[in-house]
Amino acid sequence: MTADAGKAITDRLGRHVRDLRISVTDRCNFRCVYCMPKKVFGASYKFLPRSELLSFEELERVAAAAAQLGVRKLRITGGEPLVRHDLERLLERLAGIAGIEDLSMTTNASLLTRERAAAIKAAGVNRVNVSLDALDDETFMRINDVGFPVQKVLQGIENAEAVGIGSIKVNMVVKRGANEHSIVPMARFFHGTGHIVRFIEYMDVGHTNGWRLDDVVPATEIAAMIDRELPIEPLQANYAGEVAKRWCYTDGGGEIGIISSVTQPFCGECTRARLSAVGMLYTCLFATSGHDLREALRSGIDDDALRQRLSAIWTARTDRYSEVRSEATVSLPKIEMSYIGG
Ligand code: SAM
Ligand code: SF4
Ligand code: SF4
Repeated sequence: MTADAGKAITDRLGRHVRDLRISVTDRCNFRCVYCMPKKVFGASYKFLPRSELLSFEELERVAAAAAQLGVRKLRITGGEPLVRHDLERLLERLAGIAGIEDLSMTTNASLLTRERAAAIKAAGVNRVNVSLDALDDETFMRINDVGFPVQKVLQGIENAEAVGIGSIKVNMVVKRGANEHSIVPMARFFHGTGHIVRFIEYMDVGHTNGWRLDDVVPATEIAAMIDRELPIEPLQANYAGEVAKRWCYTDGGGEIGIISSVTQPFCGECTRARLSAVGMLYTCLFATSGHDLREALRSGIDDDALRQRLSAIWTARTDRYSEVRSEATVSLPKIEMSYIGG
């Protein structure tokens, strides 16, 4: 092992690499209108063949190399991670990597049965983020576009709770005209349950969702809407680089988060790298290009060289897309969210 092993690295703006988001599949059983619109991801859309996806061994090697450079948190995402065959076997491997302190997953919870929840918990997942954009079927089905009912997602959340997954957060992407009427009902429903709802500004990820700034409901407006019904006050961040701004209910009913990626960017503290299902490494959610690690892995790169490759990528990083967003950047051919992972 060479001297840089175990050395925490920083990028050109002084940011460490702490989190690695791993997309394990480009497939999903939902067609959320803001992520995988049917007009693009329709019946004739060609998803990746299995052989193109990184194998569990390859994913583990990349995660282990990243851990040696300072990564402490792994988040499994997609597409829908639970559609990847045998996912639990991968989770076990990742949880066992030296240096990894936190293994979490973002899921639509549609496949989160009690058995599956128990299996991912046993494999080492201690936190899940469940995406849910409304509490009424009409709105939710219009968004997921496959007729999936709210009740089944709530059942998935209950299953995660029942098997003892310690932290469950509920992610709601807010899109103007689509579901802003669900902000207060969502806050009310999860108030007092211990589950933290995180309201997320609709972002211009990818280029298939036809994003417009007018579709964004700003974080300040979301906070004001909730505050009118259920008074809230700001809380300190748990740690530097926390994405969601924290608020708590003044009546002791728990907390919420608001993710203001568009109106109040937080690039200065961004410690996240993303690995796509085919092994492209991206240093920004809004990247237009990445670094092909699969090619390196499949041509026999050893662990030291893999770590050095990752280190070279991170130390050259200058990304701060959200801070420099403009009309020109919005129309760039960015990588789709379902591919890069949220
Ligand atoms: N399928 C899983 C799910 O939905 O939780 C994991 C992958 S999904 C791409 C990860 C997260 O990205 C979800 O919470 C989703 O709501 C969010 N997301 C997708 N497109 C988005 C957009 N345009 N703006 C903001 N969040 C988005
Ligand atoms: Fe699928 Fe998640 Fe994208 Fe919805 S947000 S289409 S559930 S990957
Ligand atoms: Fe990080 Fe890029 Fe998002 Fe900025 S825009 S917070 S650099 S992922």
